[in-house]
Amino acid sequence: MIIDCHGHYTTAPKQLEEWRKRQIAGLEDARNTPVKGSLGISDDEIRASLEGAQLKLQRERGTDITIFSPRAMGMSHHIGNETTSRHWSEHCNETIHRVCMLYPEKFVGVCQLPQSPGVSPKNCVPELERCVKEFGFIGCNLNPDPSGGYWKEPPLTDKWWYPLYEKMVELEVPAMVHVSASCNPSFHGTGAHYINGDTTAFMQFITADLFRDFPTLKFIIPHGGGAVPYHWGRYRGLAQDMKRPPLKELLMNNVFFDTCVYHQPGIDLLLKVIPADNILFASEMVGAVKGVDPETGFNYDDTKRYIDAIDWVSKADKEKIFHGNVKKVYPRFARTAKRWDRART
Ligand SMILES: [Zn+2]
Repeated sequence: MIIDCHGHYTTAPKQLEEWRKRQIAGLEDARNTPVKGSLGISDDEIRASLEGAQLKLQRERGTDITIFSPRAMGMSHHIGNETTSRHWSEHCNETIHRVCMLYPEKFVGVCQLPQSPGVSPKNCVPELERCVKEFGFIGCNLNPDPSGGYWKEPPLTDKWWYPLYEKMVELEVPAMVHVSASCNPSFHGTGAHYINGDTTAFMQFITADLFRDFPTLKFIIPHGGGAVPYHWGRYRGLAQDMKRPPLKELLMNNVFFDTCVYHQPGIDLLLKVIPADNILFASEMVGAVKGVDPETGFNYDDTKRYIDAIDWVSKADKEKIFHGNVKKVYPRFARTAKRWDRART
């Protein structure tokens, strides 16, 4: 089985974006009372949005299941206030739930959190609980920078985030550390802000004892871990200079990297540097980099191809990367899969 742990609903029917535009327009008028309302999307429209995109690519590339969440760029937690984010996140998560119900063998849900700059992440607990308990979601996307490129929240190791971590541990769900759109003109969204976010989160984890407080808390750092694997020696050396424990001891039971790296030498390096126990297969399709690489003739984000091409990683290690580690990092994955099996029989 091949599980892609990182996919977003980038092809959602237009009503979702139209609703968001109306919501944002409503923020201009102070007399306006925000209401959640409804989207008016039919099941057929959801099917049509996926059949020629994610489902087609799953079939062509030979992946079985995608761990699926709302469009990351669309989260844009910096817009409006807590209520704005709550209504928007609820709609996005409900749409993912509908996808998972229509294609229970192809998608399993991960939720967007209703974060808002300066608001305690405690406000995300009810939506996380709803998505996990009612919808069967198995994780969440956590934005370390709801300000969108200005980094105003405390580091992820700060007690500011603890109420959310307590709930994640209780529910046994990990978080993918995933920034959203950049409002800072110096940082291109997917080319700079995303990779900055990944790298920043990892360095934050080195500096504090978060995993002593939460030994079972788990994070996935996407996009191949940002700059981290390439600079592994720097991070090991910094930890040593700072009198921190070795990285293996400090965070390798808690921090995992995905394979959203879009060229062969990058995947080679990731697999050489990071232990197979800490790597999860992912492509982030249909995502930020959609083109065909003229050097290979294949899509940049067809990441399975790069892993398949490596002959110096054992079959057992590749199995961990393709599915074994998912079951460890997302304990609810197996439970959700069992529920589908029961529903089918
Ligand atoms: Zn993503």
